[in-house]
Amino acid sequence: MKKVGVFRSIHIKFILIYILLILIAMQIIGVYFVRKLEGQLVEGFKVSLDRQENILSYYLEEAITLERDEQASTVEDDVKNILRDYDYQDIIEVRVIDINSRVIGTSNPDNEKIVGKRMTERGINLALIVGTASDELVIEPNTGFRLRVLSTPIKSNDEIVGAIYLVASMENVYNQMKQINRILVTGTVLAMVITAVLGIFLAHTITRPISDMRKQALAMAKGNFSRKVRIYGYDEIGQLALTFNYLSRKLQEAQASTEGERRKLASVITHMTDGVIATDRTGHIILINDPALKLLGISREDVFNEPIISALGLEDELNFDTLLHERESLILDVSTKENSYILRVNFSVIENKIGITNGLIAVLHDVTEQEKIEQERREFVANVSHELRTPLTTMRSYLEALAEGAWQDKDIAPQFLHVTQTETERMIRLVKDLLQLSKLDSRDYSLHRTSVNFNEFFHQIIDRFEISKNQYVTFKRQLPDEQITVSIDKDKVTQVIDNIISNALKYSPEGGQVSFSLRKNVNHLEVIISDEGVGIPKANLAHIFDRFYRVDKARSRNLGGTGLGLAISKEMIEAHGGDIWAESEEGKGTTIFFTLPLEKEQEDEWS
Ligand code: ADP
Repeated sequence: MKKVGVFRSIHIKFILIYILLILIAMQIIGVYFVRKLEGQLVEGFKVSLDRQENILSYYLEEAITLERDEQASTVEDDVKNILRDYDYQDIIEVRVIDINSRVIGTSNPDNEKIVGKRMTERGINLALIVGTASDELVIEPNTGFRLRVLSTPIKSNDEIVGAIYLVASMENVYNQMKQINRILVTGTVLAMVITAVLGIFLAHTITRPISDMRKQALAMAKGNFSRKVRIYGYDEIGQLALTFNYLSRKLQEAQASTEGERRKLASVITHMTDGVIATDRTGHIILINDPALKLLGISREDVFNEPIISALGLEDELNFDTLLHERESLILDVSTKENSYILRVNFSVIENKIGITNGLIAVLHDVTEQEKIEQERREFVANVSHELRTPLTTMRSYLEALAEGAWQDKDIAPQFLHVTQTETERMIRLVKDLLQLSKLDSRDYSLHRTSVNFNEFFHQIIDRFEISKNQYVTFKRQLPDEQITVSIDKDKVTQVIDNIISNALKYSPEGGQVSFSLRKNVNHLEVIISDEGVGIPKANLAHIFDRFYRVDKARSRNLGGTGLGLAISKEMIEAHGGDIWAESEEGKGTTIFFTLPLEKEQEDEWS
């Protein structure tokens, strides 16, 4: 922040105001005092002159009106003596004039030649003729001195006998005035110097706390609240400093709470699993959290301060205005070659109280899983429809043929009816499987677990197939003699094993062999069923547990498969806490493995 200029500073203003005040005060006092003093001095001077004149007039009247004989001294001599002996103050010269306007004496010995001459000045005439005194101020042309010229009649018993002409210099009075003025000027200068010093000191006492406050305000602007303004006193400025410190404390508290809130918010935003992007009013990114960067596969440096539209890769489709006013959410496909990513972006506009847009917040959710489930659901419905339509179409054409007269043909009719029966059974199987899957999906079932000696249980199932099988396939059992106890839902595991064995039989050629073995691990039992059938191509192996997946669709359908057997088996084994997988070599055979957890508690009890 700019510093205050010298001439704008309170310091200088204070000093100037002080000096001006003193100057004005001194001027007023000086003018008044000098005028008054001058008046008094002039008055005193006049009184002194009048007094001297009166005394002179008294002596001179006596001298002029004195009766004299022949030998006695003349008037001129007497006058001369009086004038010589008198002690003059400020008087330069006194002339005595007789009734005939003739000078009969002068106090100035250098001007003796004037004696006997006539004086015709107006003042003298007035004094001699009218008897009035006159008083004149004259400036002497040579010296410039101010002179007072008095002409006064000398009266004896109210009769004018002569006149006194008196010249007095006022220089003394004015010299005194000059001296007093000099003292006044010196006093003024001295007062001004003292005032200036005092002004500096006073200004300093005022500006120091103000300057302190300024420094603190600057420190506060930089976020430093630790400074305190020093209190120099408890006057208004002291109060202001106290209030300033209070304000600073309050600001610090407010800032701390704002900072706390900001940190909390930042922490929430950082630790959210959803991505968050905030923009300014022009759509440039001002905040983006790590999940958003990860979801979009971008780096902060690349997108910070860049338009949100380009960060979302929408620059060809949308602009920021459309986003602000028309869109509440959109689905974004940011899949890479390796992974698929589907994001849902929800937008909310930040507006201030008067409805002006301040920016936009975009929240990014990873909806890949949801989308996948949705996609699977769509595929599932399509598959079910397809699976149901095929047997229904077949049945319809056969029934139509029967209705059109084929029922009368003894050879074809039973054949056609057999087909419809097979298709119906397949549909029933399909519906049964679907119901079972739906139950498994909705977890709307419970496993009725019982402790089972798996060896015995497995033998019974294999026996059942051995008796009922109608093709030449040998069964090879490699089962241990020891008792292996597992806690299972017998019906469900039976269904799984049935499905695996029937698949093995379905895809085994005549003369093939189906082997059964068990492997006991630390925590679980591994059940292995392998055949020497057609096998499964490597590319298809991973999908055989998917719903409706069949490697050879036509063949599977001909063999009565629904494509749901292994999918149901997988659900059931997983419900038991086990795992199921397959190994196969095309043309050589397939092996299906599944595991079941061993019953721990019983073992512990025995031990
Ligand atoms: P399906 O009812 O068609 O048998 P499954 O879910 O039981 O349905 O099996 C899925 C697909 O896996 C079958 O269509 C078949 O192509 C393949 N498959 C399963 N078991 C075997 C096996 N033992 N040998 C060869 N292919 C098999």
